[in-house]
Amino acid sequence: MIDFHNHTELCGHAEGSPDDYVMTAIKRGIRYFGFADHAPIEESIRGGITMSPEEIEDYIGMTKALKEKFAGQIEIFTGFEVDYPEFEAFDSSYYNDDRIDYLIGSCHFIGDWPIDFSPEASDEEYSKRGVDSVCADYFNNMLSLAKSGKYNIIGHFDLYKKFGHRPEKDFSDIISQIAKEAARNGTSIEINSSGLRKPVKEIYPSFDIIKLISESGGIFTLGSDSHHPDDVAKDFDKSRELLLKAGVEKISYYRKRNRVEISL
Ligand SMILES: [Zn+2]
Ligand SMILES: [Zn+2]
Repeated sequence: MIDFHNHTELCGHAEGSPDDYVMTAIKRGIRYFGFADHAPIEESIRGGITMSPEEIEDYIGMTKALKEKFAGQIEIFTGFEVDYPEFEAFDSSYYNDDRIDYLIGSCHFIGDWPIDFSPEASDEEYSKRGVDSVCADYFNNMLSLAKSGKYNIIGHFDLYKKFGHRPEKDFSDIISQIAKEAARNGTSIEINSSGLRKPVKEIYPSFDIIKLISESGGIFTLGSDSHHPDDVAKDFDKSRELLLKAGVEKISYYRKRNRVEISL
């Protein structure tokens, strides 16, 4: 099994030692384990959200050391969760750095508004903008992300629902287009179980979206988005069940930016 979305203390909002994450992964039968901590965003909004540019090399070195330490027990991969639209704080040279196995592209911001930051701030902003309008901006951003071909994985596909906000409008057309563009570039859609631990209490993305993505030819991977060792590979039985129900039989991981497909 694959868990390609795990954080470290460097982002400022995760707990536990990297060794503990890896040991939990081994215990839970994970064979391919990826660290994908938050790549730096600009300094004024970075605090408690991402690592700083000065920490990038330490992070890469730390994951490399763990690869060696746990060789033979589990395969460890070096990844980043990168914000899209991109921030200059993450140097563009890292997009072509062969020490990095993969990049997750995630949309946490619409303009300078962090859509998933707090329920209170979200409620106010969602009612001001309207959920349909937020989702239109969100999916347009995701389409541009998918078309860019720079990312191996699209993170938490319907993050806007985190605090329970749902669009009324039907976004099937653009979702299907995102799935097709992503698949064309070998970019997987992540089944992210962390939504079950959030107010929405639902995996990202919802079953209807998983089904639509699958019917559109989309490809998939798995992530727990763990910010604590105990969350590694959490609820993967449920993620797997949703994929199987949608008729998906294969999932992918990435070694040095090359996609490897395995049976679910
Ligand atoms: Zn994220
Ligand atoms: Zn994450």
